[in-house]
Parts: sequence; C-alpha cells; structure tokens
Amino acid sequence: MDFNLPGEDDPRRVKVRSWFEKNPNPTYAQLAAQGWTASNWPEPWGVSADAEMQWIIDEEIQRAGLELPYTINAIGLNQCGQSLLTHGTEAQRQKFLPPALACEEIWCMLFSEPSGGSDLGGLRTTAKLEGDHYIVNGHKIWTSVADHASVGVLVARTDTSKPKHTGLSMFLIDMHSPGITVNPIIDLTGNKNEYNEVFLDNVKVPADALLGREGDGWKLAIEQLQTERVGMTKPGVVWGMGPTARDLMDGLIKTGRISDPLLRDDAAKTYIEGEILRLLTYRNMSNRMNGKPAGFEGSAGKMLSSPHGQRMADIAKRSQGAAGMIRDPDVLPLPDKKWGMFSDWDYAYWFSPANTLGVGTQEVLLNVVAERVLGLPRDIDPTAKIPFSELSGGRAKAAE
Ligand SMILES: Cc1cc2nc3c(=O)[nH]c(=O)nc-3n(C[C@H](O)[C@H](O)[C@H](O)COP(=O)(O)OP(=O)(O)OC[C@H]3O[C@@H](n4cnc5c(N)ncnc54)[C@H](O)[C@@H]3O)c2cc1C
Repeated sequence: MDFNLPGEDDPRRVKVRSWFEKNPNPTYAQLAAQGWTASNWPEPWGVSADAEMQWIIDEEIQRAGLELPYTINAIGLNQCGQSLLTHGTEAQRQKFLPPALACEEIWCMLFSEPSGGSDLGGLRTTAKLEGDHYIVNGHKIWTSVADHASVGVLVARTDTSKPKHTGLSMFLIDMHSPGITVNPIIDLTGNKNEYNEVFLDNVKVPADALLGREGDGWKLAIEQLQTERVGMTKPGVVWGMGPTARDLMDGLIKTGRISDPLLRDDAAKTYIEGEILRLLTYRNMSNRMNGKPAGFEGSAGKMLSSPHGQRMADIAKRSQGAAGMIRDPDVLPLPDKKWGMFSDWDYAYWFSPANTLGVGTQEVLLNVVAERVLGLPRDIDPTAKIPFSELSGGRAKAAE
C-alpha cells in the first residue's frame, strides 16, 4: 500500500481548497449542497468519494476551522444514516437525509436499556401496531445527545412471541413526539450533553417510520454498531477522535516534560501503539477503497484504540504533576485541530473511562473477536431460541 497521502498540490485538494477560499465560513447546509458532509455516499447525498478523496475533504473542512460534520451528527451521518440509505424507502430518504446532512437535525441512538446494553436481544421496550401507527412504551438509557436530537433511531420489540433477537424492529422517531421525556445524566466531565435517559410513554409512531421490515431490528443494529466500531479504529484519544500519540509526544517535547524517564518510557510505548492504530486506519481505508464492507475486525480495532486513548489521556494529565489533579484545558500544547469537545486532553481524561464501555464493552468485543474473527466456539445462550414472552417472569411481563 502507498502510504503517501494526498499532498498539498494534489489537484483534488486544490479544487476543494479553492472552494473554501471562495466560500469562507460556510454553513453545513452549504457543505451538504457540495456533497461533502457525507462525501462517501452516492449522489445526490454525497459525491461517491473514495477513501482518499474523503480524507482530503475532511482535512480541508478542518483546515477551514470547522468541526467535522460526522462528529456533530455522528449517528445521522456515520452509522444509522447509512442504514437508511440501504434499507430505507425513498420517502424516508427524502424526509430524513437532507436535514441530517445539513446537521440541522441531530440524530440519537435509542438502543441501550437499564436492563443491560450489551445484550440488546434482552431489551424490553415494546412497539405495538395499532392501525396506522405503533404505540411505543419503554425506557432507554445512556442515549448520547438525546437532549438536542430531533430524530431517534429506536430499537423496540414488536413481537414477544418470537425469540429475543428476532422480535426486534427499528424505527426513526420524532424526538419531539408527545410521551417522550429526556433527562440528562451528568458524567465525570461535568458535561450534561453526553448521556441521557429517555422515557417513552404511549408514544405514537407512524407505521411508515419503520426502517426495513418488522423483525429486522437486530440485523440493522449490529450492522450499525460494526460501522461505528470501524470508525473508532483511529489513533485519536477519544474513540479515534482528538489528539493522537504524535501530538502527545510533541507536547511532552515542547514542554520539556519528556525528560522524566518514567513518562518518557510510557510515552514511547503509547507512541508505538498510536503508530499501529494509524496503520490500521490505512488498512481500513484500503478495505473501503476495495469495496469491502465494515466487518467484525472493527471490533478488534475498537478494542485496541479505546484503552490506548485512556493511556494517552493519563500520560498527558500525569505530565502536569500535582497540577494534573485539577481541571485544566491547557494540559499540553495542541495543534489547531477542530475535534469539538474531544479536542483537549483534560476533557479526554475525564471522559476516558467511558472509552471502553460505549459501542461495546471491552469484554463484549473480546467475545466478538474470539467468535467471529478467530472462529472460537460461540458462547452458549440458553435463552436464544425461547420466545421472549416465556423468558423469566419480570422480563416477559415488562414486555407484554
Ligand atoms: C460514552 C457512552 C455513550 C453511549 N451512547 C449510547 C447511545 O447513544 N445509545 C445507546 O443506546 N447506548 C449508548 N451507550 C451505552 C453503551 O452501549 C452501553 O453502556 C454498553 O453497551 C454496555 O452496556 P451496560 O452499560 O448496560 O453494561 P452491561 O451490558 O450491563 O454490562 C455490565 C458488565 O458486564 C460485562 N458483560 C456483559 N455481557 C458480557 C458477556 N457476554 N461476556 C462477558 N462480559 C459481559 C460488560 O463488559 C460490563 O463490564 C453509551 C455508553 C457510553 C459509555
């Protein structure tokens, strides 16, 4: 593989950059009109950009001082939107995609429930068809950005007589519907926007909000999580985004803190991990250029990048000595990169315990890699073939 990424004089880059020169401070709607907010999507939504072209467009968006659209509307543009492209109806695409691409309607992912996020098959939220709409009842939790989302990608149980994985369906719901209550949960970062719990009480969802067919929920959810995990196999501190081990090393050198032998040793190990992740990013890029869909190897990548981010954030804060115990946006000097709230080491540090939980815990990813990548025997699930309504009393009752 050629590791020379498109340089400053690459004609494709020159063309994109000259557009930004003519259109300083563009809105995301303007970028969407160019097909650049999801450039890899086919026209009219994107420009069918190959991985290199997507790389160029993303770099130029950041160079223009803008946050990447897929970090602002991660659910809408990274994983669920792509599902809508493939499995949605034309009417759904026309309704949902333009405002998502313009980052005017933010999407959230209503998967996890208090009964457990790892075992999506055990979810209890129900959607019952009544005439031309479904009535949804349930409780979701850890829903990122739900407090300002307009569209919710909901997985709910439409058939309790089927085994747990087969009775699930996916819907695109209006988060402003009557019966939806969103309560922010404040995490270690002190940022109330990361997670929320969402209550759904007799929410009326039009039947045409169903994505794919009834019973497709499990398949669509897994497809979306795989896509999300591949995107996280990057060397940035928070789920692939934000400063990298190269930035960490630069900062330690500029501040002279690299002279501490213990820090230097840890930083060197982390730097090597970062380089491995960088090469894995190129491999993913090459897979995409060769038309390979996101596979289970995304789980292996996420499994490496999440603890790597934790180690980097820890080294950055530790390098401050006792001062590292307090909040400080200027832990180490950083290049001017726009990664939104993930841009600074301090935020990354307080967020970092979540790295190894969200989008699949480390243990669950180990299982995926063992079973799906290495071909080891599958975990036995005695409940997999039993109708959901016959599972332990409480669960069945909640779902009735
Ligand atoms: C930052 C962040 C953002 C998130 N955003 C969203 C979101 O937008 N939408 C959403 O729906 N959810 C979201 N989540 C929730 C996330 O998907 C869940 O936290 C995750 O799936 C784990 O579920 P849980 O927390 O219920 O833990 P549980 O599933 O209850 O797991 C508890 C423990 O048991 C272990 N465990 C579970 N099953 C197994 C097994 N089979 N083998 C071995 N060990 C096992 C787990 O590893 C974990 O240590 C987010 C979480 C975080 C941290």
